[in-house]
Amino acid sequence: MNEAIDELYAAGLLGENALGKGKRLDLTVHTGAGAYICGEESALLDSLEGKRGHPRVKPPFPAVSGFNACPTTVNNVETLTCLPFIVNEGADAFKDFGPENNAGTHLVSLSGHVEKPGVYEVRMDVTLKQIIYDLGGGIRGGKALKGVIPGGASSPVLTAKEIDVEYSFDALGKAGTMMGSAAVMVFDEDTDVVKLLHRITRFFNHESCGQCTPCREGTHWARLIVQDFLKGNGNERKMKRLHRVGGNMMGTTVCALGDAAAMPITSFVTKFPEEFEKYYTQAAA
Ligand code: SF4
Repeated sequence: MNEAIDELYAAGLLGENALGKGKRLDLTVHTGAGAYICGEESALLDSLEGKRGHPRVKPPFPAVSGFNACPTTVNNVETLTCLPFIVNEGADAFKDFGPENNAGTHLVSLSGHVEKPGVYEVRMDVTLKQIIYDLGGGIRGGKALKGVIPGGASSPVLTAKEIDVEYSFDALGKAGTMMGSAAVMVFDEDTDVVKLLHRITRFFNHESCGQCTPCREGTHWARLIVQDFLKGNGNERKMKRLHRVGGNMMGTTVCALGDAAAMPITSFVTKFPEEFEKYYTQAAA
């Protein structure tokens, strides 16, 4: 990245007199300290300013008051990489990729129990099933699919029966989930869903910045309740409580991490209740 930027300076595209237009334009690469929450735009700005990465209360939005209180645009690199194609080929050419309102290609990071995990560039009219079976080579070892997390740990889980869905923003939204970071995580029939949810709740509990009570407390209690199941102390009441904790976190926090942590909790309990029941019915037997 830095070498590419050096080339831009050498070619006069950046610097004191960028493109010979008499305007100064600089590009700087800044490394972060690694916190998940610094992917949230205002926490990213706080982190850039040398502060602890805490999401800010909005408004004001970064476009009005961002880095050092100046108007700031925060964009994902993947968004920016679409620009050269749109500028060179035109918006209509870009819209030709994929269904209406879901134009362009994007990168899918396919992981988990597939034969060929990797990063694939896809149009948004491919289905999740095609991504898993055609690109990913199907489930590892010829096993059956149990479920898929379609857009990073925060996206509501889909069962094996729900994967014949277009991998676009709109279609995934209609299916009750989302594309999120486009990190598709596949898990096979042998996966212990309760252990998987425990891993996810531990992650969000660790990554919560602690600023708002529903997120700080909710992620903590969700982790402990899931842990109860693993220890053989689960029951129907706790399943309902787990669902309630997730529901109470939704829409009540400063940033989207609260919702992001809640969605896997409620969706796992709703889509795989038998996995939780197994823990206390078998323990009782
Ligand atoms: S939702 Fe969670 S991560 Fe976001 S500001 Fe509140 S406590 Fe921090």
